[in-house]
Amino acid sequence: MTAITNHMPTAELQALDAAHHMHPFTANGDLAARGARVITGARGVFLTDSDGNWILDGMAGLWCVNIGYGRDELAEVAARQMRELPYYNTFFQTTHVPAIALAEKLAELAPGDLNHVFFASGGSEANDTNIRLVRTYWAEKGKPSKRIIISRRNAYHGSTVGAASLGGMAGMHAQGGLPIPDIHHIDQPDWWSEGGDLTPEEFGLERARQLERAIEELGEDNIAAFIAEPVQGAGGVIVAPDGYWPEIQRICDEHEILLIADEVICGFGRTGNWFGTQTLNLRPDIMTVAKGLSSGYQPIGASIVSDEVAEVIGRTEFNHGYTYHGHPVAAAVALKNLEIMEEEDVIGHVRDIAAPHLKERWEALTDHPLVGEAKIVGMMASIALTPDKKRRAAFVSEPGTVGLVCRERCFANNLVMRHVGDRMIIAPPLVITPDEIDILIDRARVALDETLDELKSRDLLRAA
Ligand SMILES: *Cc1c(COP(=O)(O)O)cnc(C)c1O
Repeated sequence: MTAITNHMPTAELQALDAAHHMHPFTANGDLAARGARVITGARGVFLTDSDGNWILDGMAGLWCVNIGYGRDELAEVAARQMRELPYYNTFFQTTHVPAIALAEKLAELAPGDLNHVFFASGGSEANDTNIRLVRTYWAEKGKPSKRIIISRRNAYHGSTVGAASLGGMAGMHAQGGLPIPDIHHIDQPDWWSEGGDLTPEEFGLERARQLERAIEELGEDNIAAFIAEPVQGAGGVIVAPDGYWPEIQRICDEHEILLIADEVICGFGRTGNWFGTQTLNLRPDIMTVAKGLSSGYQPIGASIVSDEVAEVIGRTEFNHGYTYHGHPVAAAVALKNLEIMEEEDVIGHVRDIAAPHLKERWEALTDHPLVGEAKIVGMMASIALTPDKKRRAAFVSEPGTVGLVCRERCFANNLVMRHVGDRMIIAPPLVITPDEIDILIDRARVALDETLDELKSRDLLRAA
């Protein structure tokens, strides 16, 4: 068999891809007929494809390539670590330097007394760990009935059986018999779609108090934890109204439950601080991290837990762990990634330069006829597409139809912008410059104009 390389014609690569590669979250039959876009390389905030296009990656891969593509330092660290110690486990009373150093670094960066790190290969695994951690924690404290974890509809916590159960994605629960028992979902704080006649403030409080009502109904003695993303990412960059999070923190404080902040997207600078919980003033007992931890250069995640949680778990043998827990190469790369973020003051760049510029240009998109609201926190942002801004109306078409049109117009204009239903979302690499932000916005505007034209020609510019 001949080697499969970047130099093969696109059509051949697509045919081989269709023949053997099952894509995640994809109708593979449809994709096989169309052919996947073949990404061949990347530098900074741009991807290249097999047809020679330069595509601005408005999603930083999958919200993860925070320091941008093409960082040689990370490649060098990986090569060095592979030569020195490519793999060893930490199960049986052994440890190694990359795991020690990364755990120490995460304890330093994480707020409060979140000082203890349990590794995983990604966010889903870390959230599976969290399910077992919180239940084991309460059992050790003599309260084994505290098992239920409360989460939110339209949340994303990953794709393993446990993590997808924690998540609130209806489409995921519809397949494969999810969720597992003892997971309870409350509604999300999405004012644009679900706020009705309430003001955003009234609505935010109402949604937060659903947590308190759920605790009362299910019984505090049965509840282990509440899990939430500081800003819902895959759900459509849903930013809660202002009063929501203080009320959630009050409820968690007044009831005996643990707060798990899923920082897989928000962590490592995305919101303008090291962690989203710092931006929102939350005091979690456990944080889930992954994605930006290594800027996506290696698969690694972790649960970072408080002194108290670690002490209680430490009383017993916690019968849980992954082969690649604290993988030396992944840990060494993650540590180097965090060092680069500090040396280059990436968070200062976000706070003082990139996020203010993006905010100004992103919010101005609301002058476009299709754009209802624009939301942004740090370097994650969304716009709601609508045929009628005043009524915050949905389109007459199946939800997601218009969003998909817009996504394809973006791709045709060499911009990766994702759609969630009829919301468009971005989360570019944190190192993006103001000039590159201007390119992103200019391409988004062209795509929005072309979307509007297409909706008119297909008679889709109508409210439900
Ligand atoms: C991506 C994501 C996960 C899952 O992480 P994987 O590395 O894909 O397993 C969990 N939580 C949130 C908030 C995410 O965005």
